[in-house]
Amino acid sequence: MARDYYGLLGVSTKATDQEIKRAYRKLARELHPDVNPDEAAQARFKDISTAYEVLSDPEKRRIVDLGGDPLSQGGGGGAGFGGAGFGGGLGDVFEAFFGGGGQTSRGPRGRVQPGADSLLRTKLTLEECATGVTKHITVDTAILCDACTGSGTNGDSKPVTCETCRGAGEVQSVQRSFLGQVMTSRPCPTCRGAGETIPDPCHKCGGDGRVRARRDIAVKVPVGVSGGMRIRLAAQGEVGPGGGHAGDLYVEIIEQQHDVFVRDGDDLHCTVRVPMVDAALGTTVTVNTIIDGPTEITVPPGTQPGKVESVRGHGMPKLRSGVRGDLHAHLEVVVPSRLDSKQAAALSAFKDLRDKDQAEVVTTASQHNGGLFSRLRDAFSGR
Ligand SMILES: [Zn+2]
Ligand SMILES: [Zn+2]
Repeated sequence: MARDYYGLLGVSTKATDQEIKRAYRKLARELHPDVNPDEAAQARFKDISTAYEVLSDPEKRRIVDLGGDPLSQGGGGGAGFGGAGFGGGLGDVFEAFFGGGGQTSRGPRGRVQPGADSLLRTKLTLEECATGVTKHITVDTAILCDACTGSGTNGDSKPVTCETCRGAGEVQSVQRSFLGQVMTSRPCPTCRGAGETIPDPCHKCGGDGRVRARRDIAVKVPVGVSGGMRIRLAAQGEVGPGGGHAGDLYVEIIEQQHDVFVRDGDDLHCTVRVPMVDAALGTTVTVNTIIDGPTEITVPPGTQPGKVESVRGHGMPKLRSGVRGDLHAHLEVVVPSRLDSKQAAALSAFKDLRDKDQAEVVTTASQHNGGLFSRLRDAFSGR
């Protein structure tokens, strides 16, 4: 299933290179993400850029004219390009398809090159991860030069064929070696492989077709993200040389530490200090949770230090499904460090009622929780 590249640009299959270029530039002027932030427009801009990449390359255009698709991978139903979830940028597709990392040169590579992806990071609080948020961030990337709309030329001037390489984009040199004469080719130093030069470059971009600019964009962060995840914004990365279509922008989440809760996947953990007497008699504690507000935790009578009370479904929402993890309260029993005489007397009276309670060295078999070392392990595993 070949894509209709001619249709995307609205030109006939007989269109000249000039007509294709003109059609692309006209569409790019209305659809470029810097002009038109609308998501549908961005998708279309990527499509027309792809179409232009293909039709402006004689080799690829030939494949299209033969009914093929130079960008389809193995010809299997047009998978992979233009849709969501494609991370590598156009350059990867070209390299995968044409099998070249620049070693096998195929004439001039053209001045218009796809732009690079870019990456930036943004800090989110645990609350923002839990509820989702729209973040306004400043991006510094190359954008299309508005003075020449990417052509790199000044006014109506036109690029000319490079004199050094006569448009081939590469120069050959003959070297003698013990094998005899060896012909090597390298990218043309004058046009850097483009095959053409711009005698009268655009005053704003110096012929590059792009300029650096800062802009503010709004990033919609979905519910349930966590540190290290990346959000992809199609065609918001660097505009390529010659105004080539923009790469993608990735926003990586950095999750800030929370005052109370420690996140473990979709579960949340917190530590609750319980006075000794409350642990013995039982009590309730209110935890101010991130999503559900005040939530009561029951401390049953006879609670031992280190016990964990869990509340199901009060943890973080899972990305996409929104299914909630659990909240785990780790109970720390606090023994009063100072007693006044009245309190000491009360505890002595209590001790008289519990005359069987005595400090003792325990046998390994009688330890609960799997023994001392197991609990030490738990303590060090960050729980
Ligand atoms: Zn050249
Ligand atoms: Zn310019």
